[in-house]
Amino acid sequence: MGDASPQVAPASSGRVIFLGPPGAGKGTQAARLAAHMGVPKISTGDMLREAIARGTPLGLQAAPLMEKGGLVPDELLIGIIQERLREDDCARGYILDGFPRTLKQAEGFESMAGGDRTAELLVFSVEVPRPELLRRLSGRRWCPRCQATYHVETNPPKREGLCDRDGMRLIQREDDKETAVARRLAEYDERTAPLIDHYCRRARFHRVDGHRPVDAVFDELKGLLEAAR
Ligand code: ADP
Ligand code: AMP
Repeated sequence: MGDASPQVAPASSGRVIFLGPPGAGKGTQAARLAAHMGVPKISTGDMLREAIARGTPLGLQAAPLMEKGGLVPDELLIGIIQERLREDDCARGYILDGFPRTLKQAEGFESMAGGDRTAELLVFSVEVPRPELLRRLSGRRWCPRCQATYHVETNPPKREGLCDRDGMRLIQREDDKETAVARRLAEYDERTAPLIDHYCRRARFHRVDGHRPVDAVFDELKGLLEAAR
């Protein structure tokens, strides 16, 4: 990583959305860009997994849906994002990873963020061929304590099977197993991919080739961010 200090001021709005299918590298890039910009990375997947770990009512409702690779209802997601964006650390901007995922969520987000500000949003659609997505998802490992992600081949931890940050034993996410992955990709095609057309017309939208090394993708994102300021 090594990109912890903010080096640039946020883009005029400082608000970035990552679109892309599961496994495209959204979380990996969003974490690096958030550190680079000095704004929080907000991952709805992480928030839901945390709610499950804590056994909250939201977690109890989300768990069976997530495990099978389905989406959690729009109203719940719009509610948790609305609450999160009110926190002080979002004042200078934020990076959304995994939200919005449906047109209804996009509309909900636009009404809470002020529809007229959509044109300022910077939206990256990270594109990766399907066989590579399957390879990435089947090899992804995850730390249940700090939510760091690894890949058994391309991004292994320093000590096999253990998180670099806190030493926890890494696990495979239940929804990274084969049946759930098929459903998640189908949900993406049906419900999230239409957001490409939506943001193409309304925001500062860029397709990014995610089938390259992490650093190469990140360099392009930094360039696009710089150009948008
Ligand atoms: P997403 O958030 O889009 O689901 P992740 O960022 O979790 O995707 O990445 C999915 C998996 O692929 C992880 O195991 C990650 O380490 C790995 N990965 C991410 N970006 C790349 C890349 N550019 N090249 C190879 N592997 C990658
Ligand atoms: P992710 O960590 O982004 O891969 O998300 C994991 C799972 O969390 C998804 O497959 C969904 O079940 C759920 N989820 C995360 N974000 C959303 C969202 N914006 N809308 C609906 N479900 C979501």
